[in-house]
Amino acid sequence: MEKITLHDKSFRICIPNEQIEESIRKVAEQINTDYKDVECPLFLAVLNGSFMFAASLLKHINFECEISFVRLSSYCGTSSTGEVKQILGFNKSLEGRSVIVVEDIVDSGETMVEMNKTLLSANVKDAKICTLLFKPDAYKKNLRIDYVAMSIPNDFIVGFGLDYDELGRQYKDIYVLDE
Ligand code: 5GP
Ligand code: MG
Repeated sequence: MEKITLHDKSFRICIPNEQIEESIRKVAEQINTDYKDVECPLFLAVLNGSFMFAASLLKHINFECEISFVRLSSYCGTSSTGEVKQILGFNKSLEGRSVIVVEDIVDSGETMVEMNKTLLSANVKDAKICTLLFKPDAYKKNLRIDYVAMSIPNDFIVGFGLDYDELGRQYKDIYVLDE
């Protein structure tokens, strides 16, 4: 489909599925090389947005690994640094594990910085980030984003797991707001 309408907005196709899958295959190749000697890494896919990316990525992974799906939830902390997040949905210990976070999109970087802090406080051995999409012009943090399947301009996109107000996650292509 060339165009879709979600709620009150219309979107046009910008990245076709073949291109998405090809970029995922390439990033998986890099991960296969980097992790070939690492003991049973754990992929932590951040819901809801990364469900489709995680499914595509993991089909290419050729080393022994585990995958778990988590949610980042903010709770009211009293700390002056603002929001504190916790990882929901993972009940085994993360201590000593090599973790690869699987994220749909990195924008300002806020979410991944929180995720990284949470993982470090859980005493992981090592944590890396793998994102389907990265917006370099919106990124405001110093945290290294280790694996990027595709860099995109600072536009609002949907599809391949990403939503506009919960709609549009099921599309196999990526769409941009049609203005
Ligand atoms: P960050 O914390 O890096 O600013 O934002 C990351 C989160 O913002 C993503 O996990 C995603 O939920 C949301 N987000 C950022 N940019 C987009 C976009 O273009 N489209 C959609 N659907 N969500 C986005
Ligand atoms: Mg996300």
